[in-house]
Amino acid sequence: MFKRALAFIMLSLAVTAHAAPKIMLVMHGGAGTITKASMTPEKEKAYRETLELALKTGHAVLMKGGTSVDAVEAAIRVLEDSPLFNAGKGAVFTHEGKNELDASIMRGRDKAAGAVAGVTIIRNPISAARAVMEKSPHVLMIGKGAELFATKMGLEIVDPSYFWTEPRWKQLQQELIKEGSGDEKKHGTVGAVALDRNGDLAAGTSTGGMTNKLYGRVGDSPIIGAGTYADNATCAVSGTGHGEFFIRWTVASDIAALMRYKGMSVSEAANEVVMHKLVEVKGEGGVIALDAKGNFAMPFNSEGMYRGWIGEDGVAHVLIYRE
Ligand code: ASP
Repeated sequence: MFKRALAFIMLSLAVTAHAAPKIMLVMHGGAGTITKASMTPEKEKAYRETLELALKTGHAVLMKGGTSVDAVEAAIRVLEDSPLFNAGKGAVFTHEGKNELDASIMRGRDKAAGAVAGVTIIRNPISAARAVMEKSPHVLMIGKGAELFATKMGLEIVDPSYFWTEPRWKQLQQELIKEGSGDEKKHGTVGAVALDRNGDLAAGTSTGGMTNKLYGRVGDSPIIGAGTYADNATCAVSGTGHGEFFIRWTVASDIAALMRYKGMSVSEAANEVVMHKLVEVKGEGGVIALDAKGNFAMPFNSEGMYRGWIGEDGVAHVLIYRE
């Protein structure tokens, strides 16, 4: 009897030791003034369905044994292609009525990273960021150079008018009227963090930035350590919010640093930065953060944040408001 029990315990230990790490994908679709009152049921349904599609797309990649970088890229491309989110098609307009896009991606295994900023003709900036990471000796490329590089890498190039959408154009007109009122809440961004079967983390972020931004303004999204960070030893982070604060408070790497040097859990660290440090200085926004065991946090200090996660069971969870 005793021998049998012992054999059983040893067998279960062996199984646990060799079980492949659990996969996880967490996403955000931007934080800001998102309230139930400002939403119609149709709009809410569209947001939920698109987020679910993005989560399931990334999940399918991870289930097939794809890497966390593959999953982050695939999931973000879905949101970039949707006019609902401020990334790719659906990006907000600059003061001059242009769409200037930023994106970045980072791999937690070796801290490889790539980013593009101020690009206007690349359909999927997240793929351009990945190309910079994998096919160039650099981390960050901007404007015309980044566009030339993406073209040479065979990425899909579009006319700048591809990014024009009526709702975003109207938003700019409203902002132009309000200018000087100090109300700068028109933003959004999309992001993903993933954990794959090898136990590797990755993070990615893509955005049109903030409505009415000045020419050449670059936010936190393509800045490694500010809007995006990934390190297997701590966590993968993607942020959304008022980029100038995320850059100055090095939000993404600060969360990782709190875990590394203070021994905080991923939720303690993410909460400390978003709900304390940023709140103190009125830096609006939120993050998604995931550790290498699959624990994650999605704190935000704004009224809402489009967000969701999908794990091993393939059930997509989507949340929008404070709930
Ligand atoms: N963080 C982005 C930026 O400042 C915008 C956002 O996430 O809402 O460009």
